[in-house]
Amino acid sequence: MKILKLRKDRLDFFASVVQQFGEVHAPVEVDGGYAFRRLSRWSEARLNYPRTILPPKKYFLPQRETLFRFVPEKGYVPSAEGLDTRIILFGMHACDIYSLNILDMVFGGAYPDPYYQARRKHIVIIGIDCIPDKHCFCRSMRADFVDHGFDLFFYDIGDYYLTMVGTALGDDMVLATGPLFEQPAEADVDEYKRRSSNKRAAFQLEVEIRDLPEIFEMEYQSGIWDELGEKCLSCGSCSMVCPTCYCYDVADSADLGTRDGARMRIWDSCLFSTHALVAGGENFRHSRASRIKFRFYHKQRGFVAEYGRPSCVGCGRCVAACPVKIDIVEVLERLRGVQHAVSH
Ligand code: SF4
Ligand code: SF4
Repeated sequence: MKILKLRKDRLDFFASVVQQFGEVHAPVEVDGGYAFRRLSRWSEARLNYPRTILPPKKYFLPQRETLFRFVPEKGYVPSAEGLDTRIILFGMHACDIYSLNILDMVFGGAYPDPYYQARRKHIVIIGIDCIPDKHCFCRSMRADFVDHGFDLFFYDIGDYYLTMVGTALGDDMVLATGPLFEQPAEADVDEYKRRSSNKRAAFQLEVEIRDLPEIFEMEYQSGIWDELGEKCLSCGSCSMVCPTCYCYDVADSADLGTRDGARMRIWDSCLFSTHALVAGGENFRHSRASRIKFRFYHKQRGFVAEYGRPSCVGCGRCVAACPVKIDIVEVLERLRGVQHAVSH
């Protein structure tokens, strides 16, 4: 991997040059939080942010999208809406890039999803390093560092950003800026290592995940699930904000007064009461306890069995979003036997 450095005070110029590669989207302040939005000017970008409310998965798997339209004279007309828009996501954190690498396994596996694949191909990713806050446990989930899945990645080393070039496109962006990037000196490497070790020490949360699937196996009948079911409101917020949750529903919408319509794909949540409802009225996960239990088992046991790692990157969004303060770290610790009262 090519490693270069960029003076921090030249980042604005770099951002102006990369506009020729596509629409620049970055975190901006919204309603007391942060969200990835298209920038109208670079000064709106807030690269020093803890986490965005919704993860960048909204660009790859939109909350609501048309799969195809049905028109009597034409039959099925596939939708290409936004599939080839070149977007540059500037300022993604390592855990969010890691979550895309996880979604790649799901949407690129045995049944590749053409909509996801097309967006993934057209969206450029420029990552930036971050400092963990009280909700972050990405290090425990091995997602505090990424070695692929980005075009460029910036590490703050004081007056410079140490820059990892991840793809040929990333290299093209570097070359398009002329002599803006320089070779790092030995002192830059030392500074990178010093900051990397400070970051490791800054994590306030730690979760041991090594034998977690086995612990889940043994705790299937634990009273924790009923306790959580009593508290959970089935609002689905934890799934909506989760960068690795990918459940969706498919529904047809007819245009009134015509014979035209569209097949839509819409985010769904395994916490919703209708998620496991099937024709005939049977509901396989009728109780809230069974639904929240399913979410935990899918992420920490089922996904490990299928893909070799949990489908959680430790971003802390579900903890920040839950209205009744159900905290994944507390739940995992309690299952392991670490004494914790579930927060009230
Ligand atoms: S389960 Fe929670 S902490 Fe893990 S990736 Fe999803 S939102 Fe982030
Ligand atoms: S955010 Fe909290 S209350 Fe809402 S579904 Fe998730 S765990 Fe339940």
